[in-house]
Amino acid sequence: MRLTRKTDTVAKAEKPGLGLNRRQFLKSASLATGGIAAASMLGAGMMRKAEAKDVPHDAPTDVVRTICSHCSVGCGIYAEVQNGVWTGQEPAFDHPFNQGGHCAKGASLREHGHGEKRLKYPMKLEGGKWKKLSWDQAIEEVGQKALDIRKESGPDSLYFMGSAKFSNEQAYLYRKFAAMWGTNNVDHSARICHSTTVAGVANTWGYGAQTNSFNDIRHSKCMLFIGSNPCEAHPVAMQHILVGKERGAKIIVVDPRFTRTAAKSDEFVHIRPGTDIPFIYGLLWHIFENGWTDESFISQRVYGMERIEEEVKKYHPEEVENIVGVPKAQMYRVAKMLAETKPGTIVWCMGGTQHHVGNANTRAYCILQLALGNMGVSGGGANIFRGHDNVQGATDFGLLFDTLPGYYGLKTGSWKHWANVWDLDYEWVKSRFDQGNYLGQDPMTSTGIPCSRWHDGVLEDSAKIAQKDNIRLAFFWGQSVNTETRGREVRQALDKMDTVVVVDPFPTMAGVMHNRKDGVYLLPAATQFETYGSVSASNRSLQWRDQVITPLFESLPDHVIMYKLAKKWGFEKEFFKNIEVKGEEPVIEDITREFNRGMWTVGYTGQSPERLKMHQQNWGTFDVDSLEAPGGPARGETYGLPWPCWGTPEMKHPGTQILYRTGREVKDGGGNFRARYGVEHNGNNILAEGSYSKGAEIQDGYPEFTADMLKQLGWWDELTAEEKKHAEGKNWKTDISGGIQRVAIKHGCIPYGNAKARVIVWNFPDDIPVHREPLYTPRRDLVAKYPTYDDRMVARLPTLYKSIQDKDFAKDFPLALTSGRLVEYEGGGEETRSNPWLAELQQEMFIEMNPADAADRGIRDGDDVFVHSPEGSKIKVKAMVTPRVIAGESFMPYHFAGVFEGESLEKSYPEGTVPYVIGESANTVLTYGYDVVTQMQETKSSLCQISKA
Ligand code: SF4
Repeated sequence: MRLTRKTDTVAKAEKPGLGLNRRQFLKSASLATGGIAAASMLGAGMMRKAEAKDVPHDAPTDVVRTICSHCSVGCGIYAEVQNGVWTGQEPAFDHPFNQGGHCAKGASLREHGHGEKRLKYPMKLEGGKWKKLSWDQAIEEVGQKALDIRKESGPDSLYFMGSAKFSNEQAYLYRKFAAMWGTNNVDHSARICHSTTVAGVANTWGYGAQTNSFNDIRHSKCMLFIGSNPCEAHPVAMQHILVGKERGAKIIVVDPRFTRTAAKSDEFVHIRPGTDIPFIYGLLWHIFENGWTDESFISQRVYGMERIEEEVKKYHPEEVENIVGVPKAQMYRVAKMLAETKPGTIVWCMGGTQHHVGNANTRAYCILQLALGNMGVSGGGANIFRGHDNVQGATDFGLLFDTLPGYYGLKTGSWKHWANVWDLDYEWVKSRFDQGNYLGQDPMTSTGIPCSRWHDGVLEDSAKIAQKDNIRLAFFWGQSVNTETRGREVRQALDKMDTVVVVDPFPTMAGVMHNRKDGVYLLPAATQFETYGSVSASNRSLQWRDQVITPLFESLPDHVIMYKLAKKWGFEKEFFKNIEVKGEEPVIEDITREFNRGMWTVGYTGQSPERLKMHQQNWGTFDVDSLEAPGGPARGETYGLPWPCWGTPEMKHPGTQILYRTGREVKDGGGNFRARYGVEHNGNNILAEGSYSKGAEIQDGYPEFTADMLKQLGWWDELTAEEKKHAEGKNWKTDISGGIQRVAIKHGCIPYGNAKARVIVWNFPDDIPVHREPLYTPRRDLVAKYPTYDDRMVARLPTLYKSIQDKDFAKDFPLALTSGRLVEYEGGGEETRSNPWLAELQQEMFIEMNPADAADRGIRDGDDVFVHSPEGSKIKVKAMVTPRVIAGESFMPYHFAGVFEGESLEKSYPEGTVPYVIGESANTVLTYGYDVVTQMQETKSSLCQISKA
């Protein structure tokens, strides 16, 4: 279908003097993942325009190395700067991830250098009008309101929504910022993209991250994509995937929708939304039945597989066909393909994670790979593609309500570790928190409120939430609220709070979708191109970005804004005790060095600023197939020193490209599954048996390293006197000298111990994955057999399960509804819809529906339709009638906003900031439902009705 083009919108976006029609450019850029399109089409004629300065043609050009700020693939870009103006860009043909490849978003990065739709100065809403403020006045007013609320309601009445667009340094600083204020009410978009992965996967084998890399997929023989559509969401990853295909790999795509990636598959498997577990169990049924498991791998490295074998018996082919909808013959064919073409990799994204059983879905995917013995090898692994450019780093730095940086958790020992790193008295840090106890919870050591439900923290009866009072002021710092479901409640919460503070390059939805006349502040943040620092790609590699331009207009980098607020709040001395502040700008390299001193758990300790800058300057020396440098200054190292990069920078660990790889020595990036859960369970040994990494002196399983263990092994005296001082009484995670790690690795051992992966997660509500029908299920006949959970308290909030599922919504809302990505836009979309080059490509919000469903409702392709939610909301969008979705199912992209239940919000934006494209948000009609462990929202299996508008 061809959706209506708003040619007047495009006309507004056109600028005189451009040498090429914007539409022609973008058409080409979006079609080519190769960089040739971008390189050849960004001609000199197009680069003439400069908002701030007049740039003569012959001005000398500085070339700056930077990284795309959109998705987690991490493509390299050469930005061309003349007289301080960003005049051109070239794709980095020597960059080891993208080799000159770009998608449309990367090709139009330079638009950041114009900032036509950006916030230009601090503003506040007063009497319904936007009023310009100075930075001093804005910080004074916002800071004082926060202090007043703190006095009346305690520190937990502030909410710190953070950003996956922060650099690593800013993400770390923001988590510390919330700690200094005294709250765990801090979170970011990982909550609603991969929190279930982090929880499920870390609890299976140690770390909740991508185990291999985009590049390593070239070595796969079989790729299983489930709930992942890289053609749109991670376009340049397709370069590596298609190389693998050219080398003979099979591609299996499992999705409710026939996606662009499915078009490249050998086998497309349609599953009903919300049936990932029975689908995986259905494959395992054939794998167990036919003896296709890797028995020696399982006996040496997996704990509890017999429980799965028992459970899987319930998911025989007839049952799976009934629940999932996949024919028996196809299930057998796919299982056989997985068993016969190894090594194979599994790739999942938000189609798998955004369910109320999301944590269990991710565990099921891991179990499949463990049964096949596909872990710890090149071409295998769990290639979990993250979303935003730095959602991996922001997650690693604990920009989450349930942990401190490095996944240390929130227990007292964790706080003491970080107080030690910060060189602060633990008692002072503790004194910053509310000292009360609410519903049995202590605010400092209990999880905060998740960003998926900050609005419930505002609206819920305060007596029912586990903190002193409701949330009364929230910072929406680099995250847009249209990414959260239940749009009506989001709006009510924005209306109810005392103060709303948006810190962002753009106004975003929190700034405009309320009904307020006062009490909203917009603080213009700079983009990542106006500062510098490191960013972690999905594969755990850290990349250094140089500064391209100075901050536009009156915008300020995020870390400067944090400094200003900290000063107003009176804790800047403690906050920056070991970080130099020049003027009002904290020195980025000092922040990197501070987190290097504390992030022992995940090995963010070896990546000093100097090593990262050296890698950045030598992109071209890394091999694309192996990501390793065969020569040059980075000889033997993996690009970006992917974590864990053990020990101190002086140890020169090369980074770990493939996690849990026993075929390599730990000093060269090898390893094994992590010993995280003790040494036994129910009397059974859970350490590895007869399996260990190459060169390990302990040739069996072993627990985590501690000072005592070093003493027992007779290795203690290999520590220096200085190391002994720090290591005494500590373990590999808390010894800030790095000595325990150094000595363990010297003996070929990995600091975190050597255990089996576990398929029984005894600390979770479901200790093995169990199918549970979605809260809003169209299959009422399956509810009795596969019910959801009872209602319960999770993360400070009462949380509904059974009381929703008990009601039959399917009668009136018969269409299953899922959501997903478009290649042109990213996340909530404010930034990309404000980019004229991208806005041209996709101008209308739409819903995909099957021709049969459309015909039943008298709807034709391109018609205006209403999408009705079982929770009462209704949005108006275009119908895209397509067999891409089957009858009974529908799909919407989630990047749109700026229209709310039929009402345009254009009038609410400050002048000149309305994005080029606005539209209804899918999340306005997406419904209640949260993962029982992480509070991930259930956006991939809801219900709706569609009617002609
Ligand atoms: Fe590369 Fe992702 Fe940027 Fe596209 S959005 S250029 S794939 S990093």
